[in-house]
Amino acid sequence: MRTSQPRTIYLSEYRVPAFLVDHVDLRFELFENGARVHSTLTVRRNPEYPGVAEHLELDGDSLKLESVSLDGIELGADRYQDQGDKLVVQAVPDKFGLNVVTWIEPQNNTRLEGLYKSSGMFCTQCEAEGFRCITFFPDRPDVMARFRTRVEADREKYPVLLSNGNDVDRGELADGRHFVTWEDPFPKPCYLFALVAGDLVLKQDTFTTCSGRDIDLRIYVEARNAAKCDHAMDSLKRSMRWDEEVYGREYDLDIFMIVAVDDFNMGAMENKGLNIFNSSCVLASPETAADTAFQRIEAIVAHEYFHNWSGNRVTCRDWFQLSLKEGFTVFRDAGFSADMGSPTVKRIEDATLMRTAQFAEDAGPMSHPVRPSSYMEISNFYTLTIYEKGAEVVRMIHTLLGPELFRKGSDLYFERHDGQAVTTDDFVKAMEDASGRDLGQFRLWYEQAGTPLLTVRDDFDSEAGIYRLTIEQAIPDSPGQTSKNPQHIPFALGLLGSDGTDLPLRLFADENDAPSERVLELTAARHEFEFHGLSERPVPSLVRGFSAPVRVDYPWTREQLIFLMNHDGDGFNRWDAGQRLAVDVIQALIRGDEEGVDERLVEAYRSLLSDPSLDQALVAKMLQLPSEAYLVELADSADAQAIHGARTRVLDCLAQALRGELLECYRRNGDDGSYQLTPEAIAARSLRNTALSWLLHIGDREACGLAQTQYQDAGNMTDRMGALRALVNSCFVTEREAALNDFYQCWQDDPQVVEQWFSVQAASLQAGTLNHIRELLAHPAFDWKNPNKVRSVIGVFAGQNLAQFHQADGSGYIFLAEQVCRLDDSNPQIAARLVSPLTRWRKFAEPYGGKMKQALASVRDKEGLSKDVFEIVHKSLKE
Ligand SMILES: [Zn+2]
Repeated sequence: MRTSQPRTIYLSEYRVPAFLVDHVDLRFELFENGARVHSTLTVRRNPEYPGVAEHLELDGDSLKLESVSLDGIELGADRYQDQGDKLVVQAVPDKFGLNVVTWIEPQNNTRLEGLYKSSGMFCTQCEAEGFRCITFFPDRPDVMARFRTRVEADREKYPVLLSNGNDVDRGELADGRHFVTWEDPFPKPCYLFALVAGDLVLKQDTFTTCSGRDIDLRIYVEARNAAKCDHAMDSLKRSMRWDEEVYGREYDLDIFMIVAVDDFNMGAMENKGLNIFNSSCVLASPETAADTAFQRIEAIVAHEYFHNWSGNRVTCRDWFQLSLKEGFTVFRDAGFSADMGSPTVKRIEDATLMRTAQFAEDAGPMSHPVRPSSYMEISNFYTLTIYEKGAEVVRMIHTLLGPELFRKGSDLYFERHDGQAVTTDDFVKAMEDASGRDLGQFRLWYEQAGTPLLTVRDDFDSEAGIYRLTIEQAIPDSPGQTSKNPQHIPFALGLLGSDGTDLPLRLFADENDAPSERVLELTAARHEFEFHGLSERPVPSLVRGFSAPVRVDYPWTREQLIFLMNHDGDGFNRWDAGQRLAVDVIQALIRGDEEGVDERLVEAYRSLLSDPSLDQALVAKMLQLPSEAYLVELADSADAQAIHGARTRVLDCLAQALRGELLECYRRNGDDGSYQLTPEAIAARSLRNTALSWLLHIGDREACGLAQTQYQDAGNMTDRMGALRALVNSCFVTEREAALNDFYQCWQDDPQVVEQWFSVQAASLQAGTLNHIRELLAHPAFDWKNPNKVRSVIGVFAGQNLAQFHQADGSGYIFLAEQVCRLDDSNPQIAARLVSPLTRWRKFAEPYGGKMKQALASVRDKEGLSKDVFEIVHKSLKE
């Protein structure tokens, strides 16, 4: 067992750096058995540092130190100390040049932090603290320097040598080696450093910026993937244009590069001028990638590109401010995706992620504010709270200020802080200064963890024509935080009359021209609003468009929900009413309050299916029943098998009752042969695949034939995977096995498609049994060193296959604990991500909760547990 606890780092301990680095000159000699890194730093004392620092301290991790020189003179061992995680150079002058030579072994780096090898190429990942695995350096984001990087390697094996900035020099060396030198004119923190060396092909394009500069755009991939870059390139160009038009942000270097890497812990990384992407977030063709992958690629390319301003030009002072760049950039990429596709569908997807996964995180043992105040391992804080809730917080500022003042605020923020490392508070301050609004109370969104609960009650005074709405807010306690203060919440409201139209919201009896939608601003624990001049009791449409990341408690009747499903002018709330209705029906079955499935749910779905005049993109979303994960999140004490059973019963009942409508929907949305990425085309594919999966769910023979034909004839991966998924989740064993085997035979040489093949099995109720999962781990295509493969089997099984993972004997939990321990030795970041389903043990009823806790304890007791997993497991087991 670990003898010492990892240290907790506190925001309150922040001090400005004692030394600044103006310039970094790097020289990499890359070999098969390792790499030598020569680093020359131009260092000076920071005039803002309080007190006098005698020694220079640099961070390091797993480095072999070869030499240290100061101003050209090699230092004896008495002048410095190599403490492993720190290099301390004693008695340094005020200004000096420091040269450090280190030896590292990228070929043995399985953590995938720092410099490592993937599919024969060298690549880097430095955020958050990977640069210290390359050389000794003040590895903190508020030390910003200009980098010049020379990369040397064998010419034949590594013809392409890349780093940040512009390519300024290249040439031949002895022994068949060559070099390229890159210079980045913009000061940057070391987490944005990148290097790539490999045998790659290039997809090239140009973009002319709003001021008329031509930018050289390049996507580098392995030769076999050359034909799968078009969508990423188009997405990049659309992102560059959008950021000019919507935020006035122009690209600043002459060249912008993306490199696809197979082994990558994250989705992608926004290194200045040289973004490095997980292959799965770049490569796509209609034959190999489904619609969701196309949309994800577009969003991630945009996200990383947008970081050039929100993250790189203006960066974070320290890692507690991570949401400064992530929350804002997720908000920006969500705006881009909404503009490129269907805004309502995008909002539904974002809200679903918030309500299912972020609310769960907010209520769990790792709950933390958008700006945390402490951490042990920063890698554990790349969370939904930092990213998604952070984006919701920026979105609320946008709602409160309106688009024009928000843009004024973002302009001021970029102008005021260009080239600086700043805090979330600086961001809010820029918004305040530009708009004249006081966001003092609003700042609590950054400081207080937990999801606010709004309890809404109403009554109608028919004589006076007044409708009264009472709203109370409460924020639950979370680890380290109790008795929280009310937050500033924008609450978008509509009131519907019995004819389904929006009524005017008159806050005063004599208010003329009252709007039919208002954003009420909640700032107190309790508010009462009166709406005048109403002749009937309205149906309220609350928190329209998910205007704030809150839970809402209001006693809707099923009639009201059906009414809103049919009439709400807000597309998001139409969808939401359908979800609430389905949840209500499923929960009644779980509790045993109702014997059968409410006929009104069936009829509501029937009208969705049979009316082609409705917005089909919205209908496609409305037909998705609430997920099992969401039902778990809503439960006080979740009985996993009961939830699965009740949801399955509802699905059975709907599919049986609506068989005719489903077949008709399937035919109506047939494939016309072309592959378009419009909201309409995506909706049509979604509808036909939903219809197919429902019909196969009830073992429909005719549908099984349709699925087989669709599987064979599909012109794109969405339909092929739709048919395969339906078969894999059906009772037709022979057909299922035949399709799975055929799929593997066809696609075994394409790693991204094989990942989909693993996932569809790991998520399957029928195929995803524990024994089968173990067989997948032994499959020749599975690779423990590849995070995508690990996620596609273990991550999907534990995160998406409720019924098979939550077995009453605890076998699923023991399995997961074993895999976490195994991965902890090679890749602790991935191990820490995988363990998260077990951390939710308090949420589950017995026997599940107790057995999850036991499995978690077995991880805790592993010898030599990494800091990453240690933090999560200990916080989760804490009483
Ligand atoms: Zn990001």
